[in-house]
Amino acid sequence: MKILKFGGTSVGNAGRIKALFNIINPQERQIVVLSAVAGTTNSLVEISQAFAGGDKDKASASIEMLHGQYDALIAELFATDEGQQNGKELIDYHFNLIASFSSHLFTPIEEKIILAQGELISTTLFHFYLTEIGVRSKLLPALDFMKIDEDNEPKIDFIRDSLNELLLQSSDHNLFITQGYICRNSFGEIDNLRRGGSDYTASLIGASIGADEIQIWTDIDGMHNNDPRIVKGTNPIANLSFDEAAELAYFGAKILHPQSVFPAQRFNVPVRLLNTMEPQAPGTLISKSGAAKGVVRSIAAKDGITAIRIHSSRMLLAYGFLRRVFEVFERYKTPIDMITTSEVAISLTIDETKYLPEIEKELGDFGSVHIDRDQTIICVVGDFGLDTHGYASRVLDAVKHIPVRMISYGGSNYNISMLLQTEYKVEALRSLHNRLF
Ligand code: ADP
Ligand code: ASP
Ligand code: MG
Repeated sequence: MKILKFGGTSVGNAGRIKALFNIINPQERQIVVLSAVAGTTNSLVEISQAFAGGDKDKASASIEMLHGQYDALIAELFATDEGQQNGKELIDYHFNLIASFSSHLFTPIEEKIILAQGELISTTLFHFYLTEIGVRSKLLPALDFMKIDEDNEPKIDFIRDSLNELLLQSSDHNLFITQGYICRNSFGEIDNLRRGGSDYTASLIGASIGADEIQIWTDIDGMHNNDPRIVKGTNPIANLSFDEAAELAYFGAKILHPQSVFPAQRFNVPVRLLNTMEPQAPGTLISKSGAAKGVVRSIAAKDGITAIRIHSSRMLLAYGFLRRVFEVFERYKTPIDMITTSEVAISLTIDETKYLPEIEKELGDFGSVHIDRDQTIICVVGDFGLDTHGYASRVLDAVKHIPVRMISYGGSNYNISMLLQTEYKVEALRSLHNRLF
């Protein structure tokens, strides 16, 4: 069984939705995971913000605009009156639901219900389209099997058992369609896997049922060796190891959701990154054996980082100090990305600042605390094993004209990361690209 995930641009308009059929082979048993139509989730975020801010008029105007876009999409997608009618009823149902929320009782629960509508719409539209052209498919409701626990971690056993049960009930079907991104949380409420989460859905499905391959179909021919939105002349990478891909995704390569490599890696399911606009292009294969020896593979950047420095003379020759610092972050469920230490100070970075005031206050018990916002982690991924040499100096040489706040090397065999102010990101990415490739 294969898992095929199509992102927002791959279902971006009626023509693209129809073109998916050129990629899908309906004879083969597969699960197709769809994102919302490009731009929809952003619009739903705006609508939610308008509701939350008490601006019902703004919410109504945005709802009407998005509704109009879907009316146009339906007019183009379906050839028959019946198709048009089904499409119209579907869209009206979802937009009536969105419009039914009130600014008064608008909590994160209502927000997540609104955010889920994009994937619910795209998958049903595709299912209706396949039905219209005479292709049998089965909708698998993600809300019936995709579940996260109280720490927002996926419940793999639950996902596997529920999905297998659903597949068993429809053993006469080959082609299954399900929603990316959306899930249920530990309270049973509608929730999501964070922005870009459809990749994560595909990986969780592929991992939990032991798929042969997970294909991530998007608008570019694989993982490039730098961010193509910022640097000119980037190239696709044919093979990557799970570790290399995980570092790149985690440290900002937008083509993959940050957590999406881990489930596939844990259950050793290869992941292929492919281009919907150029289906014949080889793309990138991410697998156990994808690493290359002695080369720099790719560069990525992650914005929105906050650096915290704790300076304490009590740290000198003390033990148990780091544990107590880490416990503060653990209490506030705030992950740490990078760490560097000296005898009297420790610097670390976080990207979740929800509990920063509380964390800062508690860290104040250990010594002086200094916070820097608007930082970016630049991550260079390659083969930097113990038997290699010279890479750190090449990387640092490329950024010698830029102030670097932190450097992390040796944490793993394939990552050199640096922290710098976000304003220097573009220059750092370009300079590293010119020097390293
Ligand atoms: P989808 O909607 O299909 O999930 P995304 O927009 O999330 O697509 O991801 C694809 C985009 O990721 C590409 O269009 C590209 O601009 C961006 N991107 C950023 N870094 C990289 C990289 N290293 N390699 C390839 N694409 C990248
Ligand atoms: N539609 C969601 C988003 O825009 C999920 C995804 O596209 O992966 O974030
Ligand atoms: Mg994406």
